[in-house]
Amino acid sequence: MRKSYELKTPDQILKMRVAGLLTAKALASVRAAIRPGVTTLELDQIAEKTIRGGGGVPNFQLVPGYSHTVCASVNSTVVHGIPSKLVLEAGDLVSIDCGAEIDGWNGDSAFSMVVPGASGERVLKRQQLSDVCEGSLWAGIAALATAKKLNEVGVAVQDYVLTQGPYGILEQYVGHGIGRSMHEDPPVFNYRVRDAGPKVQSGLCVAIEPMITAGDQNTFVLDDDWGVATTDNSDGAHWEHSVAVHDGGIWVLTAVDGGAEGLKPFGIAPVSLG
Ligand code: MG
Ligand code: MG
Repeated sequence: MRKSYELKTPDQILKMRVAGLLTAKALASVRAAIRPGVTTLELDQIAEKTIRGGGGVPNFQLVPGYSHTVCASVNSTVVHGIPSKLVLEAGDLVSIDCGAEIDGWNGDSAFSMVVPGASGERVLKRQQLSDVCEGSLWAGIAALATAKKLNEVGVAVQDYVLTQGPYGILEQYVGHGIGRSMHEDPPVFNYRVRDAGPKVQSGLCVAIEPMITAGDQNTFVLDDDWGVATTDNSDGAHWEHSVAVHDGGIWVLTAVDGGAEGLKPFGIAPVSLG
């Protein structure tokens, strides 16, 4: 039996927009601090300060067993990296995942970037990997704008990635509905599945989050019980946005511009509420 999911009203989507923008602000503050020599724990503290300063709560701290504000995943760690004293070096590929809860509503978003200050083939490959992952996220968001069923998103993500080269798409980890909780039904796949998925309709709010690797898709969980790393030691990237479907169209809640720039190449314009 298919699980149902909660549809959000326009008023609720406007509240989720507040949480989404605070999430975006936290990620921007982290992005600005990423340089050689910074530790992932320092990045975590910057994000927490931004979220609490904006009147929010770091919702990752509400996940049982997790006490940090961000996940910081470096190189072959794709997602769920625990912030630590690990010092970032020029040329590292770091993925930052973060969420804010405010007034009982949640945002969830992630980006990858290459730590500045290095060049060469390896850096180029890492930038390409991040770019392909980001592109696949926007392809998935664009697909949501016209999709009848939710799993059309995964088809678009997978097709985009496959046209870019031999990349791996993680299959054990997927996107999700979002609202009063950061993680809600329904699941949002990053690849084709047999089921068409639930109907896409006004009030559906989802976090779309492709996780891709420069090698194959196999991963294992690190000894810290959180970090998810590639078995073949290839690099991983992770991009994510929280997106609302409403009567007028789609709106990327965790993008300051609502997704305008990212969706432009796909001929889609986001529509704001109010
Ligand atoms: Mg996330
Ligand atoms: Mg998520």
